Amino acid sequence: MKTNLKNLSIKEMERFLESLGEKKFRAKQIFSWIYKGADSFEEMTDLSKDLRSKLAEDAEIKKLNILKVQNSEKDGTRKYLFGLDDGNSIEAVFMKYKFGNTVCISSQAGCRMGCSFCASAINGLQRNLTAGEMADQIISIEKDTGEKIGNVVVMGTGEPLDNYENLSGFLRNIHEKDGLNLGMRSITVSTCGLIPKMLEIAADFPQINLAVSLHAPNDTVRSKLMPISKRYPMNELLEACRQHIEKTSRRITFEYALVKGANDSDGNAEELASKLRGINCHVNLIPLNRVSETGFSGTERKDADRFREILERRGIQVTIRRELGSDIDAACGQLRLKNNGN
Ligand code: SF4
Repeated sequence: MKTNLKNLSIKEMERFLESLGEKKFRAKQIFSWIYKGADSFEEMTDLSKDLRSKLAEDAEIKKLNILKVQNSEKDGTRKYLFGLDDGNSIEAVFMKYKFGNTVCISSQAGCRMGCSFCASAINGLQRNLTAGEMADQIISIEKDTGEKIGNVVVMGTGEPLDNYENLSGFLRNIHEKDGLNLGMRSITVSTCGLIPKMLEIAADFPQINLAVSLHAPNDTVRSKLMPISKRYPMNELLEACRQHIEKTSRRITFEYALVKGANDSDGNAEELASKLRGINCHVNLIPLNRVSETGFSGTERKDADRFREILERRGIQVTIRRELGSDIDAACGQLRLKNNGN
């Protein structure tokens, strides 16, 4: 079987080249071509013809197929459905923010965390994405849009920390100078709260932004939305967040999807403010995009504003996330679900 070079780090590529009897310094050249978007060895014009044909025999550079693109007329958001070579599909979103172009990528095909409001959970986990498949979402979008990506959020389909090894390889590769040269501080990884891995990522990647999906002020509400809260109750989760902050000296973001009638009352806001008191954090309120398959709908804007005001009054830093791509299937997992014919 041919080695997919997109999955390798520079060190691994050096070892691979040595196994072919080649000089290891070639690894950086090849790595840099891959992250510039080269799909074939023919494009790598600074390699000898000999080496290019040797590589073509033993290695390959797999790429994602763009199956569908939805373009928002309103704000330039572009949502991609990519096909994997085993027939699975995944989604990524390109967004234009004032602070730069941002791509939200998937880390798994499907997800086994079972959050009840989420379209990605409906068919469970199909498989983990490789480091190369995660990077390729960014590389393909840069090629397709012709725009440089400045920020990456790993917040699409999947629980990134449930695919920790591949996620780590991906983060190191895109951070490489010869890769996408993305600063760790420009990368955000989200989690529904896998505590042991949250502490691991604090040690391995202290500069990365961690976004914890809270979505509730207590275990009773949370367990109705997120089964993970039965394994890791909220007091343990918040304690892990405190430890994460202490270890990294970085502020944590709490994601809170406002679900109509489920977690958006004044009492919920008051309780959330009390729980987060003293934690160096920022709360991101997300008006949930309606996903007809889950039966949930988002809180209305005026109620979201009221929820935000309560948190602000209690000294919590909070923003309501700008709704991007509201004219396309912007909720995570929606496009993929449609493609599967569900
Ligand atoms: S919200 Fe995130 S963690 Fe929960 S099921 Fe969806 S993709 Fe998985």
